[in-house]
Order: sequence, then C-alpha cells, then structure tokens
Amino acid sequence: MPTYDYLCAACGHRFEEFQSMSAKALRKCPACKKSKLDRLIGAGAGVIFKGSGFYQTDYRPSSYTADAKKDDSSPAPAPAGGCAPTCGTPNAPAGCSMPKTKTKE
Ligand SMILES: [Zn+2]
Repeated sequence: MPTYDYLCAACGHRFEEFQSMSAKALRKCPACKKSKLDRLIGAGAGVIFKGSGFYQTDYRPSSYTADAKKDDSSPAPAPAGGCAPTCGTPNAPAGCSMPKTKTKE
C-alpha cells in the first residue's frame, strides 16, 4: 500500500497518508478543514510504494518514452561512413541506418 504525501495549499500543512491505490485522493485538510489538499504523487516528493510491482508497471511507459525522445534529440554519433565495418552491406548489423547495397561479384 503506497504512502501519499499531501500538502495543503491553504495552510501549508503537510502529512503522509496510507491509502490503497483505489482510494480517492483526500481533499480536506485535517489542520484547517479546507478542501485545499494537493496529493504530491509524481512530483518526486518521497512517495513510498510498498506494494509489489506497482512502481515498475506504472512507470515503465513514461520512462520508455523519455528514452525514445532522448534518442531523437541526440542521436549517437556514428563514425563517418557507417557504424560498423559491415555497414551498407547485406551483413550490416541490425539497426544500421545505412542503405544496404548488394555487393558486386
Ligand atoms: Zn490546511
């Protein structure tokens, strides 16, 4: 069962609450009784997951997307002429971006 961090926008009261994942987020601040609570999940605010597998299954898609974006913005530098000695040949490694040309006998 995860521990959620809550921060009250009205009085600044911060506390942790054990809740099941299916429970609704709290809204009412126990200190000032105003419905100004923000649940700090996903903000790197020290949310502790005690359940098994929740973190991995929930986080993997976004992590994968971030990696993909990183690859797009900064492609790995390839040596001039190709990324492997076999680049551009039918024996090119998988993922090689160079067009394959048939070797002439
Ligand atoms: Zn409050």
